[in-house]
Amino acid sequence: MTRSWREWLVRQISLAGDFDERILNAFLKVPREVFSEFHYDLDVVYSDNVIVTAKDGDSYSTSSQPSLMALFMSVAGLKESMKVLEIGSGTGYNACVMAHVVGENGLVVGIESNQKFFKKSVEVVSKLGIQNVIFVNEDGFYGFEKFAPYDAIVVTVAVDRISRHWIEQLRIGGRIVGPIDVYTIDRQPAFVFEKTSDSIVAKHLVETKFIKAGGLLGNLNETNLKRLSKIEKTFSAPVEFLSVPASSYEAVGVFHVASWSLCERSGWIYFVEDEGFARWKSGWELFGRMELIKNIAGEWAKTGFIPITLLKFRYDHRMNFRGVERWDET
Ligand code: SAH
Repeated sequence: MTRSWREWLVRQISLAGDFDERILNAFLKVPREVFSEFHYDLDVVYSDNVIVTAKDGDSYSTSSQPSLMALFMSVAGLKESMKVLEIGSGTGYNACVMAHVVGENGLVVGIESNQKFFKKSVEVVSKLGIQNVIFVNEDGFYGFEKFAPYDAIVVTVAVDRISRHWIEQLRIGGRIVGPIDVYTIDRQPAFVFEKTSDSIVAKHLVETKFIKAGGLLGNLNETNLKRLSKIEKTFSAPVEFLSVPASSYEAVGVFHVASWSLCERSGWIYFVEDEGFARWKSGWELFGRMELIKNIAGEWAKTGFIPITLLKFRYDHRMNFRGVERWDET
């Protein structure tokens, strides 16, 4: 029996934060080793660490750090009877833990784009006899309409944007928690996005390191580069300089999360709009007509360019930027 190992894992998780009994108990109920195609000793399986669970060519699936998953569940507000969508369910460990948190009247829908990892998750779940989990083999970008609206969406792969389908499929008051892949600087800050009746409000949670999403949750750099190549030949010299008194990480992170409009080429970071673009040089050199970037800079300036960790981002329901403020102000 691995029960005592699971108790050891739960002790480590509870040292990392103040988590609900329901979340801690769920980790007691699910064996972790059965989700891996590789063999590890049990002291490795039940340490509070990432483990690689499966490999398919150059692609990997990893079971995330359990205490970080507990934090995501906690921040997402997981409770009994909730319906939860997981993006990047891999071989299924986290989905099964969440299934125990929401209980038999709740439901977890896990989406995994890799067919081999998906098949493993289906096989393990039927062996364990867990009834309230469904796995879907699809690109997570689309969410899963059939069981919407969801009470929470937990993202366990670094995504370069928040999909509009997730917003549509989330109930008012529901939350999305997950790492954002700020690919231009290779950082993955996790955020919590809450849906209100007329907006989306986001706050920084913690710095993370996840597998980067592929498919439609990992091609934003490419998409923005294409937009850039359409517009850049029109302009040869910058028309304006937009000063941003913050470190590159802070600035690039803030502009990425606010706009989803950044891309990187030959060591340069660009911000693309329909009638112009900007290039990062300890501030933005503006080429052409730029409105969004000025709006973001103006809003951020009003806060005194405070760090990303203290900012609250506001969007409309299509994830278009509306404003930033200090998160402890209303
Ligand atoms: N939550 C899982 C592991 C996550 S690892 C667990 O508990 O074990 C991240 C997973 O996201 C990988 O399996 C990867 O194949 C998957 N992934 C990558 N891009 C994706 C996409 N666009 N849609 C759905 N899944 C994706």
